[in-house]
This record gives sequence, structure tokens and C-alpha cells, in this order.
Amino acid sequence: MCRSPFRFSATDGVDKLLKLNKEWAKRLDQANPGLLEANAKGQKPQILWIGCADSRSTVASLDLLPGEVFVHRNVANMVPNCDPSSQSLIQLAMEVVGVKHIIVCGHTDCKGVETTLNNARVGGSLEAWLRNLRDVRAKYKTVLEAIPSFKERAEKLAELNVIEQVWNVKTNDIVREHMAKRGVQVYGMIYDVATGLLHQVDVPEDPDVGYYAVD
Ligand SMILES: [Zn+2]
Repeated sequence: MCRSPFRFSATDGVDKLLKLNKEWAKRLDQANPGLLEANAKGQKPQILWIGCADSRSTVASLDLLPGEVFVHRNVANMVPNCDPSSQSLIQLAMEVVGVKHIIVCGHTDCKGVETTLNNARVGGSLEAWLRNLRDVRAKYKTVLEAIPSFKERAEKLAELNVIEQVWNVKTNDIVREHMAKRGVQVYGMIYDVATGLLHQVDVPEDPDVGYYAVD
């Protein structure tokens, strides 16, 4: 029988977490002399990562260190302009932290995306949140309905959602200001949970960008 690769099982408790943390902090310090000392003085990350809450698709895929990535995650990596959580974090990332690169990252096998492709009612707050993704699905229904395989349709919706969220970020008033002033860049990516690899999504120019320009 194949042994589980995971380190925390259903029978483990918080004591295990604290033990793992102690070992991790020691390894981190030994492998990166000066890192914790630098982190104690403050942070100056260059990257904002906007990702899904899924346990497999994490900022760890960038192979960077604590202090290098500012992070926001939610169900299906969305940044609707009326969401105070993501919008206030973006403002902080632009005006205070001063990140230079923003990555919106979706992933394969996303349950938020798959749920949206089904018409079954989810209910509650999750239903209200997924409405944003149902709007993306409806907008691209012709493209999506032409794909016979559910798995491939879900992967396409994940990619289209990344494109829409990149456009949402790039039409944020504060991001626009910092793109012009500091050359902030916004990218879309998809993380493949089966390979551990990221690939960059080709994000076309937003056809409606002109409607969001403000003087
Ligand atoms: Zn997901």
C-alpha cells in the first residue's frame, strides 16, 4: 500500500502543527541566513498573488520566501469591484506595500468553477459569491457550450475567469493609477494541480477598457 505523502492526518491535533512549525522555522533560518532578521524589520514584497482558496493551488508554487509575496485568496480567485475584502487589499498592495506585479491565478480541478458549470442551487453566501462566476459563464456560453467534455469546459471557464479577473484588476481605479505611475504589471496564470506547473494565460486587451477611464 502506498504511504500518504501528507504530514497532517485526521487524527493529528494542534500540538502536531506547533511541532511542525518549530522544525520549519529552524530549517527556514538555516537555509536562508538573515531572512528572519530582514522580515522582523518589515516587508517589501514585489508580488501580489490573487488565488483560489483550494489547498493545492498556493503561493508555494512560486518557490519564493516569506516576505516576498502579498496574498489574497478566496473561492475561485475573483475580484469583483463590489467586494470590499479584495478591493481594500488591492488598495493596500498599491498604496502602502507598493507591489510591482499582480498575479491572478486560477487552477485546474477547481470546485468553484465546476459548481458554476452545474445548475444545481448551492444556496447561502456561496451562491451569492458564485453569481460572479455564473456571470462569466453566461458571457461566454457560446464558447463553453461548444466544448463537449465537462473537464475541458471547466478548464476553459477557469481560464476565462482569470481573464475577466485580470480585467477587473486592471480597471480598478487605483491599479490604473499605479500602472501609469510605477509600471505595475498584471498577469493571469493557471496552476495545474496534477503537475505543479504554472502557465501564463494569454490575456487579450479588454474590449471595454475605455469605458472605465476616469480623468
Ligand atoms: Zn479553486
